[in-house]
Amino acid sequence: MRTTFKYILVLLAIAGGMHLTSQAQTAKLWNNKQCAVVLTYDDAIDADLDNVIPALDSLKLKGTFYIIGSSSVVNNRLEEWRKAAHKGHELGNHALFHPCDGSLPGRSFVSPDHDLSKYTVGRAVDEIRINNVLLKAIDGKNRRTFAYPCGDLKIGDEYFYTQLRKDFAGARGVGAGLQTAAQVNLDNIDCYYIQDQPAKYMIDLVKKAMQSQTLLVFLFHGVGGGHSINEGLGEHSQLLHFLKQNEKNIWIAPMVDVAEYIAKEQSKGR
Ligand SMILES: [Zn+2]
Repeated sequence: MRTTFKYILVLLAIAGGMHLTSQAQTAKLWNNKQCAVVLTYDDAIDADLDNVIPALDSLKLKGTFYIIGSSSVVNNRLEEWRKAAHKGHELGNHALFHPCDGSLPGRSFVSPDHDLSKYTVGRAVDEIRINNVLLKAIDGKNRRTFAYPCGDLKIGDEYFYTQLRKDFAGARGVGAGLQTAAQVNLDNIDCYYIQDQPAKYMIDLVKKAMQSQTLLVFLFHGVGGGHSINEGLGEHSQLLHFLKQNEKNIWIAPMVDVAEYIAKEQSKGR
């Protein structure tokens, strides 16, 4: 009888220890929070400055804006982008001319001048680097992330980003998924593409990321208009408020900060 009792005590002690260990591991994840959420907005449109940045600023949340250098909204509203960057938002690189692979089905919108399938890798790399110079002239920063225009990774058989690895903290793709820091591919970071989704869909994703202790990246285009791919202003606002209310458990940060954090975590594992 006594032996059994001791045995149970030992088991309880082990279980208790395991519980503490898992708590300690949780505490170390994602900047000491349960998960990371990154809010990204593509294409440098007026709605970023008119709708999104005021909404983020009102709650002191930071986002990443993937900038097409040739967008007239960059030229026309340069000081507003600079102000946004100084407030802590990331100006990410979405290439100078947003070249997409026009040889793929459904790509009739691709102009012959900016058809990625007609680019050399050198031209793609050069244009993306020039866009970094433009962005540095706006925000003064050396570190940022890239987002693949149209999610296109290759020219012919070649992954053009391979030559750009040292220029960026990471690159956001368009594939959907929730991943741990160890699982994330910094050359093609997953995200959830949002178009006309109810707030509940987005909030459920955040809850899933919290439960699975993973990275969740949102990809928006227009918010409250301004782009053919749009999300409602009210739905977007509900998501932001949910994030703010749960800020104690969710690390909400620009892509560059999260990518640099992941790179550190991954180098520890090696
Ligand atoms: Zn785009």
